[in-house]
Amino acid sequence: MPLSTPVWWHETGPSTSVALMLALAIATAAWRRRSLRGDGAVAAAIVGTIALRAGWAWGSVLIVWFVWATIGSRLGRERKQARTAGMLDKGAQRDARQVVANGGIYALAAASSLLWGDPASEAALWGAAALTAAGADTMATEIGTWIGGTPRSVRTGRPVPTGTSGAVSLAGCVAMLGSALVLTAVAVAFGLVPTQQWWIVAVSAVSGAVADTIAGELVQQRRWCPSCDTATEQHRHACGTVTQHRGGVRWVGNDAVNLICTGSAALLAWLLARPLG
Ligand SMILES: [Zn+2]
Repeated sequence: MPLSTPVWWHETGPSTSVALMLALAIATAAWRRRSLRGDGAVAAAIVGTIALRAGWAWGSVLIVWFVWATIGSRLGRERKQARTAGMLDKGAQRDARQVVANGGIYALAAASSLLWGDPASEAALWGAAALTAAGADTMATEIGTWIGGTPRSVRTGRPVPTGTSGAVSLAGCVAMLGSALVLTAVAVAFGLVPTQQWWIVAVSAVSGAVADTIAGELVQQRRWCPSCDTATEQHRHACGTVTQHRGGVRWVGNDAVNLICTGSAALLAWLLARPLG
């Protein structure tokens, strides 16, 4: 498709007002369907407007990504909620910090392409790598908590409760790899990423998702509810008790780990795109 894609597809996008209206319409729909919290919808509308202004390719890839992530969070929703009850810091509704942790670098790449042009598709490469990494990581978590068996800690290899950060399951790993390939194919199909450079996006995205898992295990803070005698990400547990710090770095939560995921993917793609020597 990229070979036959007309030039205007790469180089033009909607006007600012059309971009804003389209982004607002999608963000509002997601907010009404409870995929996004109010502040998350505002952040998503900003990211969407920037992407659409950068061009139809940037905007379309973001919209497909958003649909993909939304499908992932809806699959087996009740079962996932039951399996991770009292574990997770945040629910299924994404807030502004989550939107920025997942889509912020993509918006930055789109803005840089918009302001300075992107003749060598460099910004497109690192932006697409960051977004693909976020999508692969999201899908790994969603599918893993839905149909994955008991996950194992990557550090100790021991089984841990479903929903534990830095834990992996076979289903989650397959979903991560599959999602990275699908989203890379989407970026190529819409002409954002040149066909021969697809591997840069795929390799960087998978690396970012792996970095996310390792950071989730090693540096993300772990908390403990003394009343229920159980691990949790929540500062105040579902039971009402204030939880205790049990390990990891205090200020590193899920959003910081997601930023490590997208940031490392973008950095690797940027490095791989440099000509050697
Ligand atoms: Zn408790």
